[in-house]
Amino acid sequence: QTFTDLPLTETLQRNLAAAQHETPTEIQALSLPAALTGGDLIACAQTGGGKTAVYALTILNNLSQAEGAGHSHPRALILVPTRELAVQVENNFALYGKGTGLRGVAIYGGAGMGQQIMRLRRGVDVIIATPGRLFDHMEQGNVDLSKVSILVLDEADRLLDMGFMPQVKRIVATIPDEGRQTMLFSATMDGDVEKLARAYLTDPEIVNA
Ligand code: AMP
Repeated sequence: QTFTDLPLTETLQRNLAAAQHETPTEIQALSLPAALTGGDLIACAQTGGGKTAVYALTILNNLSQAEGAGHSHPRALILVPTRELAVQVENNFALYGKGTGLRGVAIYGGAGMGQQIMRLRRGVDVIIATPGRLFDHMEQGNVDLSKVSILVLDEADRLLDMGFMPQVKRIVATIPDEGRQTMLFSATMDGDVEKLARAYLTDPEIVNA
């Protein structure tokens, strides 16, 4: 299987070729067919296997084909446990999303609010955020998640271990669940992660890679 077998836009195919991604990794081959059709996904995946591209490509592909590009409200939200991961995912978005016109911004703690507020005001399609800082922005009225239609919980086990569950709950409560695509990635699948999956996902494809 190659990426050209997958129903990705030409722009994304071109970006993958430029990034020298030719063959999908196992997690990508198993997850992308279902994710690209808009279905929910639970992926049991370690980092290093290419999980970021699964949700980045799904978001970029599905948002480029949807109405409302350039809209000022974010349409996808990725929750990650750490600032380092947020920055890494933002870089991946820039790489895979070149030429799509879709704007991704990382929002994380330990950095000033001002610059983040400015970027949010300028308009953003995809927010990549740690839950604590995103919640601070929500409380200040800097961000409106009512147009989000794709939600990703990345490294869900770590989100829970780090005590982010209360913020995750309050954040997700502001996102409509009708028609939403939700993808959950986790290195481990214990009871708490399963509980989270049951609360937020509908009829998910379950992938182990
Ligand atoms: P991740 O597990 O998402 O952190 O990805 C690990 C690394 O694998 C990243 O540096 C990606 O750029 C790279 N990568 C992801 N998918 C592919 C692929 N299909 N072919 C080659 N490299 C890839």
